[in-house]
Amino acid sequence: MRFEFSTAGRIIFGPGVAEQAPDLVAGCGRHAFLILGGTPDRFRRLLDPLAARGIACESLQVPGEPTTDMAQEAVTLARRAQTQVVLAIGGGSVLDVGKVVAAMLTNGGALTDYLEVVGKGRPLQNLPAPCLAVPTTAGTGAEVTYNAVLGVPDQQVKVSIRSAMMVPQWAIVDPLLTHSMPPELTASTGLDALTQLIEAFVSNKANPLTDGLCREGLPRAGRSLRRAFEDGRDAGAREDMSLASLFSGMALANAKLGAVHGFAGPLGGMTEAPHGVICGKLLPYVMQANVQALQDRAPGSPSLSRFDEIGRILTGRGKAGAAEAVAWIEDLCAVLGLPGLRRYGLSENDFPAVAAKARNASSMKGNPIELNDDELVAILRQAID
Ligand code: NAD
Repeated sequence: MRFEFSTAGRIIFGPGVAEQAPDLVAGCGRHAFLILGGTPDRFRRLLDPLAARGIACESLQVPGEPTTDMAQEAVTLARRAQTQVVLAIGGGSVLDVGKVVAAMLTNGGALTDYLEVVGKGRPLQNLPAPCLAVPTTAGTGAEVTYNAVLGVPDQQVKVSIRSAMMVPQWAIVDPLLTHSMPPELTASTGLDALTQLIEAFVSNKANPLTDGLCREGLPRAGRSLRRAFEDGRDAGAREDMSLASLFSGMALANAKLGAVHGFAGPLGGMTEAPHGVICGKLLPYVMQANVQALQDRAPGSPSLSRFDEIGRILTGRGKAGAAEAVAWIEDLCAVLGLPGLRRYGLSENDFPAVAAKARNASSMKGNPIELNDDELVAILRQAID
C-alpha cells in the first residue's frame, strides 16, 4: 500500500474560532486582501478588528459561483494592493477565489497560464501567499482542498486550477458562521458534503486515512443534515455538518471523487443549477448505476462492500445494504425538496453532450468503475425531474 495525504497547514475548528482570524492575519503582514460573499456586513465583527490592528485592507465581493474573469479581476486588484495575506470568508465560491488569488500573488503571468482544460495547465512554481480560508457554508470542504473551481461561461464548462501547493495555510472552521444559512442553502450545501464523503469512500483511490474521515463524516451528515435543514439554530446539527464538510474536503483532496462530480463540471457550466443541487439530485442514481455495473462487470470489487457499509451507516440498521442507502438518499432529497435539473434548463437534447463531457472529466477517474454512455444517459434521465 502506498499513499500520500496532505491538508491545510493548520485546522482550527469550533464555535467562535473565527474570532482568531484578525490576529492570524496580523501575523502575516500589513496588507490584507479580503474576499467576501454577497452580504459582507454579516462578518463585520471579524473585519473591524483588522483596521484596529493597523492592517490595510482591500476587499472584493464574490456573490455567486465565480468565473475565470471574476477570478482574474480579483488577482489584478490583489497584486495592485501589494497584498501579503489573503483572508477569504464565505462559501466555496469565495474560498476558491481566495485560493486563486493567493496562488497568483507569488506566481507570475495570467490565470489562463495555469487553468486546466481551457488554459495552458502550467504547474505553479512557487508556494502561494498565506491564505486563511473561513467557510460559511457546510459545504464544499474547499478550505482544505487544493483546487479552485471556476466557470467559463462562453465554453459552458467549469474548470479547475489545481496544485498540491494550493491548500490554504489555515482552515478556520467555525460552525456559528453557518447558522444564518436558509433551509434551501443548508440542503444543497449539505448534500455536496454528503456526496463528497460517499464518492471518496467508494473511490478507487481511497486510502486508510480518507476511509477514517469518511467513516467519521458520514454518520454526522446522516443524522444532522435534515435537522439543520429543519432548524438552522440547532447548534449540534450545524457542528456535525461543518465537521462533515471539513472531513469531506480532506477526503476528496486525497482520494478523488467520482461520477457525480464528473457530471457536476459540465452541468454546472451548462445550467444555473447550484453545485450542491446537482450533486444531491444525481447522487442516488449514480450510486445505483455504480452498484449495478460493479455487480455485472467487477463482482469482486471492494467498493461493493463500501456501498453496503454506507447503507448501514445512513440507516443505522445492521442488515441494510446498498439498496437501502440509495432509498435513504432519495427520501432525504424528497424531504429537502430538491428540484429536478429540468428546473434549471436541462433538457433531454443535452444528454449526449453532457455524457461526453462527463466521461472526460478528471473526477471520473476516481469512480469505482467506468460507466458507459448508456449508463451515464440513464442517470441523467432519472435526475431531470
Ligand atoms: P456559494 O459559495 O456559491 O454560496 C452560495 C450562496 O450562499 C451565496 O449567495 C452566498 O452569499 C450565500 N451564503 C454563503 N454563506 C452563507 C451564510 N452563512 N448565510 C447565508 N448565506 C450564505 O456556495 P457553496 O456551495 O459553498 O460553494 C459552491 C462553489 O464551490 C461552486 O463553485 C463549486 O464548484 C465549488 N466547490 C469547490 C470545491 C473545491 O474543492 N474547491 C469543492 C466543492 C465545490
